[in-house]
Amino acid sequence: MRELIILGAGAAGLFCAKHLRTKDYLIIEHNDKPAKKLAISGGGRCNVTNKFVKEDDFFSGDPAFISNVLQRYSNKDLLKWLRDQGCALQLKNATQYFCSKSAQQLIKLLHTPNILYNTEVFDVEYDKSFIVRTSRGTFRSKALLVATGGLSYKKIGASGIGFEIAKKFGHEVGALAPALVGLTLQKEQFWFKELSGISLPVTINVGERKFKGNLLFAHRGISGPAVLDASLFWQRGKIIVSFLEKFPKLNTKKQLTTQLPLPKRFIKRFLQEIGLEDKRAGLYNKRELEALKSLCHYTFAPAGTFGYERAEVTRGGVRLNELDTNMQSRLQKGLFFAGEVCDATGKLGGFNIQWAFSSAFVAAKGIDAYLGNY
Ligand SMILES: Cc1cc2nc3c(=O)[nH]c(=O)nc-3n(C[C@H](O)[C@H](O)[C@H](O)COP(=O)(O)OP(=O)(O)OC[C@H]3O[C@@H](n4cnc5c(N)ncnc54)[C@H](O)[C@@H]3O)c2cc1C
Repeated sequence: MRELIILGAGAAGLFCAKHLRTKDYLIIEHNDKPAKKLAISGGGRCNVTNKFVKEDDFFSGDPAFISNVLQRYSNKDLLKWLRDQGCALQLKNATQYFCSKSAQQLIKLLHTPNILYNTEVFDVEYDKSFIVRTSRGTFRSKALLVATGGLSYKKIGASGIGFEIAKKFGHEVGALAPALVGLTLQKEQFWFKELSGISLPVTINVGERKFKGNLLFAHRGISGPAVLDASLFWQRGKIIVSFLEKFPKLNTKKQLTTQLPLPKRFIKRFLQEIGLEDKRAGLYNKRELEALKSLCHYTFAPAGTFGYERAEVTRGGVRLNELDTNMQSRLQKGLFFAGEVCDATGKLGGFNIQWAFSSAFVAAKGIDAYLGNY
């Protein structure tokens, strides 16, 4: 029997292994290599963390829990560890840390020989120890870390096994949904599809939250950084897109399309949609000007999302209030969770990998303490 089995050789599983005192662990992974998701994250350069990381950057039922985990292993701790290991980083967009060359820099650092590849986990039971049933037989351990991630990107290994295991041990799994993903449209907004390829800066309001960034018109709907962040907090209902922060003072003698700081193709299609023509600004009546001002608060309800196959993350997961401060199940001693399988989903910008690493570090300390008292 092993001291520990880790399910999943992704960001959380590998980072936990790096920070364990016990060396008697086995990682079980159904892919033929580790960290396939890390390899493609951040466009292949992996946005590992952010200059500013707060619980507010996450969608979760328990911000205080997230804050506690981030305090125990912060972005500063991670940056220090990466630098100490010789991993060169690059700061982009003023706040996002990426690997300077490739995500492989990070994956090499996380290397461990104790991984059983091409082995699918089917089920876990507990009878005095954990019994892990896999495609290559049954394994036993004193402690178990579930680090199997979420449902997005099935083609590189995502599965729902972590949620199934959690439920089996009596855990509640918060409603799952694709997040950091493009949004599809209802037929009233199908005209957006004709603008496919145009990207423009917007602000999107979802309830009380505001997201600034680019919106990309796509064949299937809308995407781009502002939309991906908005998708994390959108759960049906209306969103407000401000294509213009403020409606400019118009020169009455000039054509409208020459005055608005927006792509011409976009304005022309928008005008067509509200039944107006491009003309000298002075020729619009009061009602028409009001219709034009909806560019500052264009309100509509998306139809849905592009789905798990295009989503960077899965929102929802194992409820944090059912874990103790060491990421250990309150319902089954020795059972730990870390990473995306938990109900903590970050915005774009390096928050999800930071969470995977912070929660895995905390779990590593908890696992060592648990094994010490076993
Ligand atoms: C395209 C893309 C880009 C992204 N870019 C960024 C970014 O730049 N910055 C950022 O912070 N976040 C990014 N993310 C999100 C981030 O990669 C994840 O949140 C993070 O990898 C989650 O880590 P994890 O260890 O919990 O899960 P994963 O990294 O998904 O690891 C889970 C592991 O478990 C294995 N597994 C699953 N089921 C089984 C089973 N039944 N049997 C055996 N093994 C199993 C999987 O194969 C996988 O190796 C991106 C995600 C995607 C899809």
